[in-house]
Amino acid sequence: MPETYSPKYRDYPLSNLIDTLRMVRVTCRYCKRQHNYQPSDLIQIFGDVDVDSLAKRMTCEDGGRAHGRLDVVAFVPTGREAVGLRIRRLVAIKVNRVPVWREDPAP
Ligand SMILES: [Zn+2]
Repeated sequence: MPETYSPKYRDYPLSNLIDTLRMVRVTCRYCKRQHNYQPSDLIQIFGDVDVDSLAKRMTCEDGGRAHGRLDVVAFVPTGREAVGLRIRRLVAIKVNRVPVWREDPAP
């Protein structure tokens, strides 16, 4: 059986992009919000996952899940595009501390 060619980044881990100097562009179709990320930053959050899977893992920073699935593409910043390209860098990962309670009878 011939191998079917798929233009999608099927099983294309983020680490693959680092080697080829590619970046990840994430766009919200709803509000047109767009950010460019370094794959190394995304790996710190999501692990070395498939590039395509980010569309489900990430949510719009403005509208969250309500804005639906995001557009995720890997790209190489070309000469003209690279000038003034804004890159959203990871500053820190805040860990949410959520208290968990239980009711105990009085001693
Ligand atoms: Zn949005």
